[in-house]
Amino acid sequence: PSRKGSMADVPKDLLGEIQKLEELFTVDTAKLKQITKHFVSELDKGLSVEGGSIPMNPTWVMDFPDGSETGTFLALDMGGTNLRVCEITLTDNKSEFDIIQSKYRMPEELKTGESEELWEYIADCLKQFIETHHGGEAPTEGKIPLGFTFSYPATQNYIDEGILQRWTKGFDINGVEGQNVVPMLEAALDQQNVPITVSALINDTTGTLIASAYTDPKMKIGCIFGTGCNAAYMENCGSIPKLAHMNLDPNLPMAINCEWGAFDNEHQVLPRTPYDIIVDKESPRPGQQAFEKCIAGLYLGEIFRLVLVDLHDNKHIFEGQDIKYLRKPYTLDSSFLSAIEDDPFENLQETADLFSDKLHLASTRHELELVRRTAELIGTRAARLSACGVAAICTKKNLQPCHVGADGSVFNKYPHFKARGAQALREILDWPAKKSFKEEDPVEILAAEDGSGVGAAVIAALTLKRVQKGNV
Ligand code: BGC
Ligand code: MG
Repeated sequence: PSRKGSMADVPKDLLGEIQKLEELFTVDTAKLKQITKHFVSELDKGLSVEGGSIPMNPTWVMDFPDGSETGTFLALDMGGTNLRVCEITLTDNKSEFDIIQSKYRMPEELKTGESEELWEYIADCLKQFIETHHGGEAPTEGKIPLGFTFSYPATQNYIDEGILQRWTKGFDINGVEGQNVVPMLEAALDQQNVPITVSALINDTTGTLIASAYTDPKMKIGCIFGTGCNAAYMENCGSIPKLAHMNLDPNLPMAINCEWGAFDNEHQVLPRTPYDIIVDKESPRPGQQAFEKCIAGLYLGEIFRLVLVDLHDNKHIFEGQDIKYLRKPYTLDSSFLSAIEDDPFENLQETADLFSDKLHLASTRHELELVRRTAELIGTRAARLSACGVAAICTKKNLQPCHVGADGSVFNKYPHFKARGAQALREILDWPAKKSFKEEDPVEILAAEDGSGVGAAVIAALTLKRVQKGNV
């Protein structure tokens, strides 16, 4: 925004294109409020017997940690990009955890391959991990319990069950949707004689919520703004009509994995540009994850790429150049946008270098201004829309004041994402201006503890406690 002045000498034609993009991508306060209001009613619908498009999955995580949870646990994080195995020791000092971990890349072919290959690969990583860290010894008694962070929408009737509702984040593996993934992983483990049993299946947002609450009791919501986008919060069993038939104690807490990426799948309130429509249509699951497709890291670079291709095809930029590299879908990820927004040079030299190195395109000063503004618009829209989800949960549950724990590459690495989100929250929830720099907002979105490691461990500990107490 501080670079506005540099637009002064941009020729009329390009300036007109920039204005069109501003109109398409800008979400003003009134719109944010309208989206939030609709969001609140969709959260309610998701908890009802009839259901809605936001799944609002009960997770059977039924306690906030009190910080006294201790022990050593194994956790597996199957994210959109990496596979991580960790062993976490929760000590008496709750701000200290011992973590041993190994990261493995999730091979791109696996994401659209066969189910058996996926589970075999994961079992193999777990096997390697315990061979490295335990000399492959089987435990003296029984199997090692594992907290499995499986970050996709899943129906759970028990904490150690996860029936995949649908793949998200570009995954498209046959034969898993509609199935319980726990026995699939366990079968692969058995086949390789790996002495591990899945004791809890956890969404990354639930892990984030619990890990954050473990060290900061003000944390009431866990969010992921990464390859995908989602949130979890604590509901009371008595406020979950779709669980009424189970006659649970209405005062018991129940963590809800919202799966808010599915918000507005019916396209009632979100602003939709022609680029969003293409992203959706070309995705493996058209019509799904409408909200996520505007916000998550997987899609930001693609939206940006589609804008530039369109501008080129209408003879506004890179005229006479071959844009074959730019034509390749998903060739730019959100780190490309981050780098553009981070370019500190007045003449946008780093952006120019990126375009020539990665896309083999020469760019004029004016084209660079347009590119920069486009990145700002897409990044700002993502941050502002994400605030609608946070505001909706805070409104529904009357959570102000509270802290929100957030994790994920977009939250942690995308320039200005936090400040833009905070600004949008301020507009939606009508807070007066801060009196001093140090004053906290009524809702602060803060960097979370490691949900898929520490969170999974704390949930495993809570589950053990509950089993020992003889509860559900
Ligand atoms: C998944 C969620 C997950 C989120 C963040 C979404 O695509 O459906 O389960 O929490 O990504 O990883
Ligand atoms: Mg993750």
